[in-house]
Amino acid sequence: MDPVRARLQTERDETLRRLANLTDDFQAIVAASQDTNADDEHDPEGATIAFERSQVSTLARDAQRHLSEIDAAVERVDAGTYGVCETCGQPIGEGRLEARPTARLCIRCAERRTR
Ligand SMILES: [Zn+2]
Repeated sequence: MDPVRARLQTERDETLRRLANLTDDFQAIVAASQDTNADDEHDPEGATIAFERSQVSTLARDAQRHLSEIDAAVERVDAGTYGVCETCGQPIGEGRLEARPTARLCIRCAERRTR
């Protein structure tokens, strides 16, 4: 298999696994909140559960976003545009792609954008 595809596949598997764990966590938190009186906002336990729940759903949303980034990267591999900076058209460095397989911008353009 193409090493780029293999890398994206690994990334995808890991993200799916993370998402599955987060879903388990979320269900555990929901189950725990049904045991305690979490509807009572004056209950400190309820506030903790609400906080945990929002933490987990934020992480799950991040993981889902990452999944769609991976899918978009696979589409770029299919289209032959993977590893090419979307802003300047220069190749994205191999080290950067290794660290961030879903990168759409070269390091220079990415830095310019966050500035
Ligand atoms: Zn660039």
